[in-house]
Amino acid sequence: MRMTEARKLILEELRRSSKHPTADEIFLKLRTELPSLSLATVYRNLELLERLGVVKRLELSSGRRHYDGNVLDHAHMRCIECGEVVDMPLPGRGWLRKVLSLSDYDLIGINIELVGICKRCASGKKARKGR
Ligand SMILES: [Zn+2]
Ligand SMILES: [Zn+2]
Repeated sequence: MRMTEARKLILEELRRSSKHPTADEIFLKLRTELPSLSLATVYRNLELLERLGVVKRLELSSGRRHYDGNVLDHAHMRCIECGEVVDMPLPGRGWLRKVLSLSDYDLIGINIELVGICKRCASGKKARKGR
């Protein structure tokens, strides 16, 4: 695979950050480093990297399309206030085996989303209430 400059920067950005950016966020971040970059190029490269299995597209209930440079199985926690998405460990394999024994499906992927309110948003809420 010939690695274009844009593709290399996108992959590096996703591997460096644990923030699970959207295509828009990646575009805004990299535009300063690569002024010729377009949003269409970002989308095209994300699709390609996803097909190659080196990045993951997250299907979250927010409906926003986040990308992840960590392709190992893990769960996510999403803040319903600010939309931040952070990595969470998966429960043990014993749990998964037990769940799978209840179904006749072949497992092809894991997509576990926890939903909550981050510390920053929670303290902001309290501050607003106190006023
Ligand atoms: Zn938050
Ligand atoms: Zn992740």
